[in-house]
Amino acid sequence: ELRLDVEALRAEFPVLSRRLHGDRPLVYLDNAATTQTPRPVLDAWTDYFERYNANIHRGLHRLADEATQAYEGSRDTVREFVNAEDVREIVFTRGTTEGINLVAQSWGRANLREGDEILISRLEHHSNIVPWQLLAEEKGLTLRVIPVDERGELDLDTYRALFTERTRLVCVSHVSNALGTVNPIAAMSEVAHRHGALMMVDGAQAVAHMPLDVQALGADFYAFSAHKLYGPTGVGVLYGRFELLEAMPPWQGGGEMIKTVSLEEGSRFAAPPHRFEAGTPAIAEVIALDRAIRWVTNHHFELISDWEQGLLRRASEAMKGIDGLRIIGEAPHKAAVISFVVDGAHAQDLGLLIDQYGVAIRTGHHCAQPLMHHYGLEATCRASFAAYNTPEEVDYFVDALGSVIRMVRD
Ligand code: PMP
Repeated sequence: ELRLDVEALRAEFPVLSRRLHGDRPLVYLDNAATTQTPRPVLDAWTDYFERYNANIHRGLHRLADEATQAYEGSRDTVREFVNAEDVREIVFTRGTTEGINLVAQSWGRANLREGDEILISRLEHHSNIVPWQLLAEEKGLTLRVIPVDERGELDLDTYRALFTERTRLVCVSHVSNALGTVNPIAAMSEVAHRHGALMMVDGAQAVAHMPLDVQALGADFYAFSAHKLYGPTGVGVLYGRFELLEAMPPWQGGGEMIKTVSLEEGSRFAAPPHRFEAGTPAIAEVIALDRAIRWVTNHHFELISDWEQGLLRRASEAMKGIDGLRIIGEAPHKAAVISFVVDGAHAQDLGLLIDQYGVAIRTGHHCAQPLMHHYGLEATCRASFAAYNTPEEVDYFVDALGSVIRMVRD
């Protein structure tokens, strides 16, 4: 029977052996902000610089060829990972944020007219709100907001009722970074498509926790970041359906994205995906992302997901025993994220004090201020789990949390 060998898996992460503040073990529970990086991914990155660092695509020499093959090979690994039909549907970006801005600035500017409507939700990360606000201001669009209920789930009846004949695009996160809620994207896409609208998904928090199938989800665009998937910072992916990408104008101009440039007759642009990859990309990081995807899929998503759900249940149960602690967001279908507040204790104080135990959690608004305001809060504490976390770490965290709360209250 397959099971996750967590001890072996942990040994692949050099950072997990760090000790902090005297001799406390690092207990890293800030995985929703960024995941740690395993040795094979670090090695893939270093190997590029040690053996075949070269600019890609136009070089005829050996190193340029190897770098190009590795870069384009990563594109195919991503295609398979997200189950896209065609490798040309995979655009490398700097991250989720850039993917969303690309769609707003390229597709949005070309296709939306004054009075058109975009649906977003109240639980979006700021990076799936602000690009649409900027575009709305520029073009005279209306943003409509799908509400969230007490448990942290989207209100789907209201969602259906928000559509008008001017609704052109729905932009929602697959998984909420602040609460962990998994949104029913496939069902929501179906509604969007029935109304002739497109579906853009912010997948930043989903990719590390569940197998991804953009076709089954009905996503027209899907954006994510490598650094939340055991990969490096500085690189991400935008999936876009080919016929949409093909009709979209360039976003940024520069090298790599043109077919021909003439000062007299203007420029003609490359086909997707290169049309959207102006300039020298993050070559080493794209190659390391390939390795990160293989790493995570080799460890089997079902096993990782079951393991993380076990940690989530264990932590949630134990935390319910802490007097005055309230978990925010209790959707039945959640990724391994726990947001919580404690009566009589500021989130920031708890975060700073628990760091003294070696425990890394996040405190604040989690770049989701509209959601915080829905709950009448300015901030929560958030613990988020990854494949390498253990039940022992959960117990250590809950014990440390209890001590810290007593300290604050005394
Ligand atoms: N959306 C969600 C749901 C996120 O959690 C994050 C990262 N916190 C982002 C978007 C932005 O990702 P990045 O900063 O890597 O562009």
